[in-house]
Amino acid sequence: MTPESRLRADIVEVGRRMYARGYTASNDGNISVRLGADRLVMTPKSVCKGFMTPDMMCVTDLEGAKLQGDRNPSSEMLMHLEVYRQRPDVQAVVHAHPPIATGFAVAGIPLDRAVLAEVLTTLGSIPIAEYATPSTSELPEAVRKYIRAHDGMLLANHGALTVGGDLFAAYYKMETIEHFAHISLVARLLGRENLIAREEVLRLQELRGTYGIKAPAPICADPADGGSGQAAGEDSTTCQVVQAPRGDGQRLVPDVSNTSRPGGRGDAARGDQDSEIRLTYRQLSALIADAIRSLK
Ligand SMILES: [Zn+2]
Repeated sequence: MTPESRLRADIVEVGRRMYARGYTASNDGNISVRLGADRLVMTPKSVCKGFMTPDMMCVTDLEGAKLQGDRNPSSEMLMHLEVYRQRPDVQAVVHAHPPIATGFAVAGIPLDRAVLAEVLTTLGSIPIAEYATPSTSELPEAVRKYIRAHDGMLLANHGALTVGGDLFAAYYKMETIEHFAHISLVARLLGRENLIAREEVLRLQELRGTYGIKAPAPICADPADGGSGQAAGEDSTTCQVVQAPRGDGQRLVPDVSNTSRPGGRGDAARGDQDSEIRLTYRQLSALIADAIRSLK
């Protein structure tokens, strides 16, 4: 088997897995892999990723000119080309619409909270690239802002994009994003997310070398220290924003967004007079009834 036929077979396999897991429906999604220094193998336009065969693939150059194949390359080719231009280290690009992660992309909620140690080690945070019309040059522009610092991102009201040092690495990052989104959704439905403290996040990122993970970017400085994640004068993010409060010696800290609930352990418990308190109608009625009783 030649290296090219191996890559074509791998794209077929990854397409089948994405479709089987519901990451794509109908003809959604696209996959590409570098074939040597100046060529790409890419899925064609308008085929279901669950039913591809190796002969369907297109070979293009890095400008997008078709060199080989009966079909036309993916409608999102421009986005793939932009990633390869910005990231010489990237060997493969995967785009899909995994439903839970895409739900976060539709809701405008980035997956940037320090919640799972494995995700912090492998991907860091997962931002949302601004909405762009699919298949137009808007999408590569939206992706450009984050691709230098991230191996995975959500695409607003669209789906998700992952990249890697080989095709399976890029695909597994798509699995990680969807799995992370699923766990985040469950934790939020349960009403609490305990976050990993900033000090522990930095320790996890230091472990990347041990696992051979070439992280694209470090965690941004704490906003409290003036960190912004944005390089001066550049429309490109150079570090990763991770919501990880300082732990003051504790490795897990309560989610700041949940601490104002009755029984929460955050600002309210610390006696911050300006913090918001949310009460159910029943709790509010009981408080008023208590107040009236004490007046009598
Ligand atoms: Zn898409």
